[in-house]
Formats: sequence, structure tokens, C-alpha cells
Amino acid sequence: MFVGHYGLALAVAGGRRSPPLGLTFVAVQAMDFGFFGLSLAGIERWRPDADLPGLNPFELSFMPYTHSLTGAALIGLTFGVLCALAAPRAQRPVWFGLLAALVLSHWGLDFLVHRPDLPLLIGDGARYGLGFWNDPRIAIPLEMAVLFGGAALYARRTRPAGAGPGRYALPAMILVLLGLQAFNWFGPAITDPLLFPLAGLGAYVVATALAIWTGRSRRPAEA
Ligand SMILES: [Zn+2]
Repeated sequence: MFVGHYGLALAVAGGRRSPPLGLTFVAVQAMDFGFFGLSLAGIERWRPDADLPGLNPFELSFMPYTHSLTGAALIGLTFGVLCALAAPRAQRPVWFGLLAALVLSHWGLDFLVHRPDLPLLIGDGARYGLGFWNDPRIAIPLEMAVLFGGAALYARRTRPAGAGPGRYALPAMILVLLGLQAFNWFGPAITDPLLFPLAGLGAYVVATALAIWTGRSRRPAEA
């Protein structure tokens, strides 16, 4: 899953005590930042497989450190602790809980769409995934529902902060995310071993920059 993860990042941001939107965007993709980084280093592995049905023609053959349930929990704990240390004192428990849960939510959404490639433990063993990617009639509406559901919650919980981009930042960001997702689904598959992880990381950096911009242009609607 790709932009669907951002639905959950939007859903929990925007409250007075919530972590900033840029941080929730990094949290939901922390596992993939790790995967693309480790695959650049040759530690985790993927390979293109044009024979796979549906979306995402890649076999994610080895990703135990970033995409096992145990690895995800460890990344979530680490990310939650680091962000809580940087949080205003009164918000530390909320930031820790929300951000660690957001990191872990990535595993839950990936479990729905991935073909069985997600282990529970770091190492060999059974791997899981419901494989909705095989059927775009399920995967596409599911991903759109999570993204737009989260965006609607965020729009309701925030309002523009004064004159400025507050009115159009959120729709502009969603449009860019939809463009990136459309390329991922319907564009040519990037199979170059260097270009694929770099394109993934690039897309996440663009999404995060837009989230920082959007988050700064809006403020909590509650008094
Ligand atoms: Zn992932």
C-alpha cells in the first residue's frame, strides 16, 4: 500500500495535542523508508515479476527487518521514543502512543494488500498477506477509502490558519498524492535496482514536504 497509509496519518493529526502532520507522514512510511534504504544497501531484497496478476508486479522476497511484525514493532517503539523526547513535555505520552501506533499501522494495511511476504519474526518462517493487490477491484477502492476518509477527518478537525495557503494546501497535497499513486498503479514499472528504491524514497520525501506545508497552513478547529 502507498498513499492509503497517509489516510491514517491524516486521521490522527490536526488535534491540539496531536503530533504535527509532517511527523505522522514519516511515521506511517517509516517501515518503507527502512525497506528502500536497506534494499539500496543490498540487505533487503525485491525483484520485478511481470507475471504477477493485478497491481505491483514485484516479488518482495526478503524484508524481515522492516516488514516483519516484530521489526515493525521495534521501529515503532524507537520512532515513538525519539519523537516523544522531542515533543513538548505534556504531549510526550500522546506523541509516543500515536506515532508508535502509526508506524505499526503500516504492517496492518500492508497485510491486506501484500501477497504473502510479511513474516511475524525477524528471520525465516511463515509469511502472511491477503494479497488484495491481485485484484485491483478490491485494492484500489480500499486504498482510496482510507486516504479520503483520513483527509475528511483532518479537514473537519482543522481550519486555515489565517490568509495564505490554508484553503488549498490540503486539496493540492491530495492531488499530488493521487498523481504519484496513479503512476505507481498504471505507469511503467520501475525495475532498475537503483532507480526503484530511489523513486520510492523520492516520493515519500515529496509527500512529507507537502504534509509539513499543509500542517503549517492549518490549525486545530477546536477552541
Ligand atoms: Zn511497506
